Amino acid sequence: MKLTKKLTDAFNEQIKAEMWSANLYSSMSIYFQGLGLSGCAHWMKKQAAEELEHAEKLIDFGMTRGGDIKISAIDAVPVKWESPKAVFENVYNHECYVSELIDKLMDLAIAENDKATQEFLRWFINEQVEEEETAQGILDKFKVFDVHALYCVDHELGKR
Ligand code: MG
Repeated sequence: MKLTKKLTDAFNEQIKAEMWSANLYSSMSIYFQGLGLSGCAHWMKKQAAEELEHAEKLIDFGMTRGGDIKISAIDAVPVKWESPKAVFENVYNHECYVSELIDKLMDLAIAENDKATQEFLRWFINEQVEEEETAQGILDKFKVFDVHALYCVDHELGKR
């Protein structure tokens, strides 16, 4: 079964969203490099690379299923945050938003009765559980370690 027009459009939107996410994390990495927080900067760089992999997964599957896959213009991403903690709050909220996008994509695959796409999207649904959990875990450290949190977080994220 070929990707339907609706699913193709939704795939193209999701590819754009994953690429936007990659740019967001690159921008966060630059922000942390500017602050001299090399652990956080390193983590964000890895995160950006992962987002590009997500986009590639969607492109490859979309092409395999005969979709009219296209890359469109990516909107500008934020370049400044109030604090390092605000960056991780942004990460958590953004990942929750991406989870919603993936859920909607799954709803569409169900509505279009495309079982192969539903199967393919399951990986993304599981991945989002992990992404949200990781971001939440970092935010929890800010609560637990209070003033020392940044040191702890930067040290730990440098190990990724
Ligand atoms: Mg992603």
